[in-house]
Amino acid sequence: MAFEGLAERLQSTMKKITGKGKVSEQDVKEMTREVRLALLEADVNFKVVKDLIKRIKERAVGQEVMESLTPGQQVIKVVKEELSDLMGGEQSKIAVADRPPTVIMMAGLQGAGKTTTSGKLANHLRKKHNRSPLLVAADVYRPAAIDQLETVGQQLDVPVFSKGTDANPVDIARDALEQAKEEHHDYVIIDTAGRLHVDGDLMAELEQIKAVVDPDEIFLVVDAMTGQDAVNVAESFNEQLELSGVVLTKLDGDTRGGAALSIKAVTGKPIKFAGMGEKLDQLEPFRPESMASRILGMGDVLSLIDKAETNVNEKQAKELEEKMRTMSFTFDDFLEQMGQVKKMGPLEDLMNMIPGANKMKGLKNAQLDEKQLVYVEAIIQSMTKDERQDPGLMNASRKKRIAKGSGTSVSQVNRLLKQFNEMKKMMKQMTSMQKGGKKGKGMN
Ligand code: GDP
Repeated sequence: MAFEGLAERLQSTMKKITGKGKVSEQDVKEMTREVRLALLEADVNFKVVKDLIKRIKERAVGQEVMESLTPGQQVIKVVKEELSDLMGGEQSKIAVADRPPTVIMMAGLQGAGKTTTSGKLANHLRKKHNRSPLLVAADVYRPAAIDQLETVGQQLDVPVFSKGTDANPVDIARDALEQAKEEHHDYVIIDTAGRLHVDGDLMAELEQIKAVVDPDEIFLVVDAMTGQDAVNVAESFNEQLELSGVVLTKLDGDTRGGAALSIKAVTGKPIKFAGMGEKLDQLEPFRPESMASRILGMGDVLSLIDKAETNVNEKQAKELEEKMRTMSFTFDDFLEQMGQVKKMGPLEDLMNMIPGANKMKGLKNAQLDEKQLVYVEAIIQSMTKDERQDPGLMNASRKKRIAKGSGTSVSQVNRLLKQFNEMKKMMKQMTSMQKGGKKGKGMN
């Protein structure tokens, strides 16, 4: 996960100040010194760090902290707000043209993730916003680029406009726009050519495309792993093209995070999306506040909800609620739930989004072991249909058979049965509380 080093250092710095009933100037001095070092080490632009520290210092010794009842926590709030503002504060939305189609031009160096991100964006627009995008293959120089976009289009079932590698990219863009209008697409996403380095020919071509299609958004795709270089590339592209936003890719890697923290401050252009993996659904709207919370270990509930909303369908959620209420939740439902949780991505990533979860000792090892899930699945799959519906049937010989069938032990089977029963009890309790029933006494 990106920012790991930075997050660790900042969290240990914040821990020292959390409980303080009084925050002296010396405390602030020490805290800002450590924050400064942590940011520089995470490869945040030097000038950006200097300005940020100045603001934090001013606010941390100011009235809002001194007069607060919990000065330690107030300081942390200041740091979080400043980090969030640094990354753009508000989450930036994607443009919607007054008259469709909305045109999005994608630019970036080769290998930054432009083609992949074009596909991810099409997927996002369709799945999340119910739009009908047209992908346009205008990278005629990298031989595989068109094929790659066409493959992505097929995977997503999104149409791809292409005229092969012999056509001129400016003509491709113009014709694609015409077709999009005729076919009533509401978004056009143009995947342009990249180069290994910023160069004059590339910029001239992009400027021509821009002049012809008059884009509503010009997104620069940059690779977060390239650190300060990502910021320099963003600056040059912005000078030439006047970007509307940046998509930062490969934030799933162990990047130090400097690019994410510097781009907005240096270029004035917001990061609109973050690429979190190679798969086509691994694109997240970039939320500065959530990111700041995550870095400071305060969790990121909004992203978690977002993930759940995209992966769990409403009908299933309703059915589940009904089952919980009527206590008819079975091992089959349990299996289905596990499938849905798995779709949301690695458990560890999910845990990082829950406030305070990273501080719970033992949780990491005890429950995050994905291997355990494999065993749980195997155990349930070794049960008969009746056993899954009614765990009350379970006796010693059945347990032995299940353990054998799933390659586990009777004690593992027992543990799962116990957990399942406890979960059921908890569900009952939760749902009866929601209904305003007998609080805490709803157990049977
Ligand atoms: P382009 O030359 O800019 O079009 O780059 P591509 O879209 O071909 O991507 C280059 C490589 O980066 C591919 O192997 C992608 O799978 C990978 N990639 C793109 N975005 C991400 C991301 O967010 N995370 C990770 N881990 N890999 C990515």
